Amino acid sequence: MNILGRKSITRLARSIITNARDFVYPPLCILCDNPLSKNDPWFCDACIDKLNANASGRNACPRCSQDRARHACACHLVWDHPYERVYSLFDFDETVQAVAHQVKYRGKKSLAFHVGKRYARLVPPEFLEGIDAAVAIPLHFRRKMKRGYNQAEYLAKGVLAGHGNSIPYLGKALKRTRHTRTQTKLDREQREKNLKGAFGLNPGGADAVRGKNLMLVDDVVTTGATTAHCTRILLEEGALSVRVLSLARD
Ligand SMILES: [Zn+2]
Ligand SMILES: [Zn+2]
Repeated sequence: MNILGRKSITRLARSIITNARDFVYPPLCILCDNPLSKNDPWFCDACIDKLNANASGRNACPRCSQDRARHACACHLVWDHPYERVYSLFDFDETVQAVAHQVKYRGKKSLAFHVGKRYARLVPPEFLEGIDAAVAIPLHFRRKMKRGYNQAEYLAKGVLAGHGNSIPYLGKALKRTRHTRTQTKLDREQREKNLKGAFGLNPGGADAVRGKNLMLVDDVVTTGATTAHCTRILLEEGALSVRVLSLARD
């Protein structure tokens, strides 16, 4: 028997085993352990309903993405971010927190891609208008080696795939030169100190971003300090503008 034949038999055996296992133990929702929806490889119908309810019917401010039905948005008065606008696919709630946790700490990189692709339709067309390329907030290489992937990159690639891959992804422009501690408990000054020198561009990065309108992707935007810091670097290196896209905003 030649190698090809053996390979296809192995593949067939594997698919029989998977089907038999799914029959005995139907695959379960990643968030709540109920049986999966017929329309989704990760979520059950109830969790999809929760995600849709979180995302749909939102009256999001086109600049800050706050749901104006829930919060009074005053961004037109106080906007001091270097990025033009920010859009979050979801408001932060328990379900979205569970998705973010699975993606970040449980190794589910294909879930990050899936969520990006499935909910890419939520990104308003005017947000993507004129965007030349996408970049993701990078992980430090040690962190990336430990986790095996950068969740923001997979989210970005999912969103881009959901839009027919018409916007290129610049994977090598930005780099993180050191890991930074979490910013939530730091004041503004401490955050700036924490981020100083933590990001930069790879060789050739400036050429890649110069003259471009960029979409900068992160999984969860908390204080906005990291996205603001990376935006400033991109603008200093010649990018024309930066818009921030995230899974959720905490
Ligand atoms: Zn579920
Ligand atoms: Zn606003």
